[in-house]
Amino acid sequence: MTETTDCVFCKIAAGQIPSHRLFEDADCFSFLDISPLAEGHTLLVPKRHFQSLADVPEDLLGRTFMALPRLVRAVTAATEAEGCNVLVNDGRVAGQVVPHVHIHVIPRLKGDSLGYRWNTGAYPEGRAEELCARIGQGLQ
Ligand code: AMP
Ligand code: ZN
Repeated sequence: MTETTDCVFCKIAAGQIPSHRLFEDADCFSFLDISPLAEGHTLLVPKRHFQSLADVPEDLLGRTFMALPRLVRAVTAATEAEGCNVLVNDGRVAGQVVPHVHIHVIPRLKGDSLGYRWNTGAYPEGRAEELCARIGQGLQ
């Protein structure tokens, strides 16, 4: 078994296991999440197997994200949602369970019980500048 033959989203991409498919193009496809956080919870997935966003070639990731506005419009209209959360769990520590990059689109309604508030922090004196410099180095 390789990473890909073992991967549930690769199997969905190949039509080996069923899904409620919404659309597909040369690079990516989308389908309803099997355990929705809200009705219409949708996943957008590049067809090729990459575990992390950081591994995906920029042009492929760009073409995948280009599908988002149309998908968000269609999902929110169909579910009469007032907004949505669009998120990627990147890495096990961030909650990623399926190790094949995917973007969640989760329709939101006022008063739904999903919640979404993380405890925020504050930078001690000098730390933001230090981080800017370190991240900046990685961007060169
Ligand atoms: P994550 O925690 O970001 O890795 O999310 C993985 C998502 O994939 C979860 O929301 C699962 O409900 C969903 N999922 C897993 N297997 C399937 C499947 N066969 N069809 C549709 N969605 C799936
Ligand atoms: Zn895969």
